[in-house]
Amino acid sequence: MTRENEPSVEGEKDSRFVADFWPTGRCDMECPFCYGSDAPSSTIEMENLDGGLNRIPLYSVTSETEKITGSKERRPEMSIDQMKHVVLKLKEVGVDTLNIGGGEPLLRRETPEIVRFASQVGLEVYVSTNATYLARRYVEIKDNISVLGLPFDGSTPQMNGLMGRNEYVFHNVQNFLAFLKDTQPQHKLKIGTIVSRINMDDIEAIGRLLFQSSQIYSPDVWRIYQFEPLKRGVVNREMYEIGDSQFGQICDRLRALFPEVMISPRSNSDHSNAYFFITPDGMLQAVHSRHESIADLLRIDKDDLSRVITEHKKTKFKASKNREWMFGSGLG
Ligand code: SF4
Repeated sequence: MTRENEPSVEGEKDSRFVADFWPTGRCDMECPFCYGSDAPSSTIEMENLDGGLNRIPLYSVTSETEKITGSKERRPEMSIDQMKHVVLKLKEVGVDTLNIGGGEPLLRRETPEIVRFASQVGLEVYVSTNATYLARRYVEIKDNISVLGLPFDGSTPQMNGLMGRNEYVFHNVQNFLAFLKDTQPQHKLKIGTIVSRINMDDIEAIGRLLFQSSQIYSPDVWRIYQFEPLKRGVVNREMYEIGDSQFGQICDRLRALFPEVMISPRSNSDHSNAYFFITPDGMLQAVHSRHESIADLLRIDKDDLSRVITEHKKTKFKASKNREWMFGSGLG
C-alpha cells in the first residue's frame, strides 16, 4: 500500500480532476520563488517534416524518471502531436480541467494550438502566464479558455522588481487590465500575488490598485500565495519566507478591507500534495516536499495510468480543492 492508497477521501466523488500541463520549461524570467518546470538543460537539432532543422530543448532526467523509463538520456520537449496524445490520454482517465503553465507557456508558439485542442475535446482550460507575450497572443487563446491567470506582486514596478519579477511585469499586467476594461472578457480573470517578507507591507496597496481603480478591469479572483521554499525558493528562503500565522493575519486583514472581493488564500499546507504536473518532456509528477515523477505519459497505457492515479487519489482530491476558486465555490 502506498502512502496515497487510503481507503477513502471525503468528498472525492464530487471533485473535479485537475492537472497542470507545462508545454515548456523555458521562461523569460528567473523568479526567485519559482517552483514551476525545470528549464531545459540543452538543445538538440532535429529534422522537421519540411526537411528543415529545428532546435528542440532537452530536459535532464531525475532518478525517478530514470527508474520509470530505464534511461538516463535527456528527454526532448514534446512535439505538438505528443502533447495532443497526452491531452487525450488525460481525458481518457477522467481529467476535466487543464491548467496550462510552465515555464512561460505563451513563449512556445504551439501553445495556442494545444489550448484550442484541449478545449475542443471538452476540457476546461486555464492559462497561467507572466504576461510578457500576452499582448501578441491573447487573440489566439481568448475564445478557448475559462480562466486567465496573471501575476501581480507589487503596487509599483519597483516592488515587482524587488520581488524578483522583472519590473516590466507591472506595466504589462496593468496595461492588459486596462485593455480588458474596454473589451470585457468572456473568461474569468485571476490575479495571483506571492506574499513574502519583501512585499508583505505592500499587499493592501496592491488590493487598492486592483479593486479601487477606475482605470482597470478588476479580477474575479485574487489568489494570495504564501511564499514557498520549493525548488528555486529553497535558496532564497531567508529573504522571502513568512510564517503561517503572519500569512493568515495578512489574509484576514485583506478580507476585512475588501469584503466584496473573492480572496482565495493558498498557504503552504494547502499546496503540499495538491498538484499533478505534466512536464514538458511528458512525465507525470506529483508534489510532496519535492516534485516526483510517477509515470511516463508518452508510454503508459490507459489502465496503468488509471492505476497510478488511484494510488494518488489524495493528490487528485487536493488538486481539486486547490482549484475550487475556478469553479465558483470555496471562495472566501
Ligand atoms: S514567470 Fe513563472 S515560470 Fe517564469 S520564472 Fe517566474 S514563476 Fe517561474
